[in-house]
This record gives sequence, C-alpha cells and structure tokens, in this order.
Amino acid sequence: MQAFYREQFVIPGNGDWAYFCGNSLGLMPRSVPHAVQRVTEQWATLAVEAHFTDRDAWMPYHNLVRDQLARLAGAKPIEVVAMNTLTTNLHLMMASFYRPRGERRAILIEARAFPSDRHAVASQINLHGGSVDDDLIELAPLPGHETIAPEQIAAAIAAIGERLALVLWPGVQYVTGQRFDLAAITHAAHAVGAVAGFDLAHAIGNVPVDLHASDADFAVWCSYKYLNAGPGSIAGCFVHERHADRGLPRMAGWWGHDPATRFQMGPEFRPTPGADGWQLSNPSIFALAPLRASLELFDAVGMAALRDRSMQMTGFLAAAIDAEMSRYLDILTPRDPQQRGCQISLRVRAGRESGRRLHDALHARGIIGDWREPDVIRVAPAPLYNNQSDIERLLSGLREELQ
Ligand SMILES: *Cc1c(COP(=O)(O)O)cnc(C)c1O
Repeated sequence: MQAFYREQFVIPGNGDWAYFCGNSLGLMPRSVPHAVQRVTEQWATLAVEAHFTDRDAWMPYHNLVRDQLARLAGAKPIEVVAMNTLTTNLHLMMASFYRPRGERRAILIEARAFPSDRHAVASQINLHGGSVDDDLIELAPLPGHETIAPEQIAAAIAAIGERLALVLWPGVQYVTGQRFDLAAITHAAHAVGAVAGFDLAHAIGNVPVDLHASDADFAVWCSYKYLNAGPGSIAGCFVHERHADRGLPRMAGWWGHDPATRFQMGPEFRPTPGADGWQLSNPSIFALAPLRASLELFDAVGMAALRDRSMQMTGFLAAAIDAEMSRYLDILTPRDPQQRGCQISLRVRAGRESGRRLHDALHARGIIGDWREPDVIRVAPAPLYNNQSDIERLLSGLREELQ
C-alpha cells in the first residue's frame, strides 16, 4: 500500500513523522510555496492590474477551483463556490434555508455535533426569536452504541414531521469517523417538507460525495482538513441547482452580484445565478492559491482510486487492532468500510488517563494522531500521503506502548 503522492508533500519532522492528523490539518503540498509566491509577484509587479490582466487574473480567480470542487462534491459547477470559512458559510446558508414559520421551527442535528455547528444553529434559532430548548433537537446514539443507526435518523425525522424546518447533518462524523448516506437523509427530510443541509468538513476529499444526485439543498465544508489547502484556507459551499435562480432571500454582498453589472456600482442587488450569488466579499487570493495547488493532486489521482486505497488502509489497520489489541482498545468507528471514511477512532479500555498517556507516548515517537476529549484517539491514514510504513509504525507503537 503505497501512498499516491507522498513525494508531493512535505512530511514534517524532517520527513520522519508518521502523520495521521490530516483530518485536522492536512499536510502541505510541495507546490504551495510557489503558488503563494506567484500571488506576491503579481501583487508586486502589477498591483491592481493583476485583477484583470494576468493569465491567472484575480477577478475570476475563484473560477480556477470550481470544476475540481464540483468533482469532489459530486456537484455541477454552478452549484459550488469557494468562499469565506466554514462556519461563516453555514450561517449564510441558514440565513437563506432556515426560515421558521408557524409550527415549522425545529432543527435536527446530532447530539455530539462539532461545537461550532451547534453554536451556529442555536444562534440562528435565537436570531429568529425561537427557543433552543424547544427548537433544537439533538439525536444521540442508542444507549450502549457509539454511532447513530441510519434508521434512527429516518425515524427521528418522521417523528418530528411538520415541526421540522431543517436537518443539518455531517457527511462524516468528526469523533467517530462514521459516514452518513446524504441521499437517504435528504429524502427523509424532504418527505416531511424540511430542508436538508450538510457539513462536509470531514467528508470532502475523504469519501466520494454526490451532492447533486443526493438532492441536498445546501452543503458547506472547510479545505484545511483532507483538502490540504492550509490553515484557515478558503472554505466551500454548495447550493443545489434548483435554488440557483429562485431569488432566495440571503445575506448579500457585492461579490454575489452578477459580474456582468457588478462594476456599474448600482444600488440594486442582482445575484449571480448559483452558489456564486452567495459570495459577500472579494476572496483572499492568498487563501485560494494553495487550494488551487492542492486540488490538482486530487484531480491527478481521482477520488475513486483514493477511496479504494483508503479502504485498504483502514481495513488493514482495524483488522490488526481487533486481532491483536482488542483487550486494550475499542474501535468506535463502524467496522463496515462503506460506513466510514479514512479515520479510525480508538478508546483505551483502561480509561481516560491511560488513553491520554498512550496518545502522548505515540506523539513522542513521531506518530501523530490527535486527542478528542473526553477519551478518543483519532488516527486518519490519508491515502494521498500516508503509506504502509506509516501504518506499520503506528501498529508497532501501539503494541509496544500497550505492553
Ligand atoms: C473542522 C470543523 C469546523 C471548523 O469550522 P471553521 O469555521 O472552519 O473554523 C466546523 N464544523 C465541523 C463539523 C468541523 O469538522
């Protein structure tokens, strides 16, 4: 199991780390410094003219990542845009798609949602004068389970019924690594007249995503995790084509205005059809340049091949842990490779302190996973740069430390 493109990445620790933290911050592609340098050169030599005159001019620069993002998101080009950051995009989407009326006010999320997502939905409920106690419904795994059964989600949606305004669900759960079926969740939401939105922070670049066919209304993601675009890099947003030109209410800014007339600087807002119409500001070219460089690697390999390799890697890792270490370690991630991405989440049976010690001991050996409170060690072999020898090192580190 070789990595596809290990040599295209800078491996930290002078090339020595076994880095399993691409679910938190992906490694830097070697092409990134040059891509950023190129922007500084444009700025230095052309200044404002770089918006229009260069071969990679800044005005339409966000279009340079559109097709690649559309492929990764399973979307049409008009449905995706690179803009802002994840939580900002989530708010922008809810401004348009969470419109509580009458009895239809509830938002369904998972009980262990990423805190930013919970803060975002709770604050939206408050902004609309609702009550979080009444309108925020959080679905937990059944007692004794780590993950949420798909039937549970469908049943919860059906039970909330006409009270349900929005389902906001992850593509891949960030603690357990569980992957969800976007089409099934969307179908259930639409059946009761609710909107279906997805947070793909841990899914994009990790598992195949088919947003258009799933019929999802909107989705958001960040690009510093599996997309390797660097800390705080520009995020992504999907708006289904059927909403492209409906004049949905939104939080508007000049960059969402139709580019054909944007610079007439008129007072009226005419949104660009599609996801572009939700842009607010002219984007950071410094944030777009690394994303553009990074996405080229995804295109060169293709998501299908990456997914195959990813399933081989987690399959091998999970089988070895189950076979040799099940006395000490529980795997929280679903055993079925179709129901997970490339992350395996571990819990040390001896308790939180032992888990923390194990995580720190691996770290001291240059085996970099991460720790999620209260008691979870996450390791994510990323098929673009992790290889078999990384996985062997992780396994021998676990074996030796668990003795
Ligand atoms: C990483 C992550 C975030 C981070 O939000 P930012 O706005 O990019 O800081 C939010 N939600 C989920 C589910 C995440 O995994």
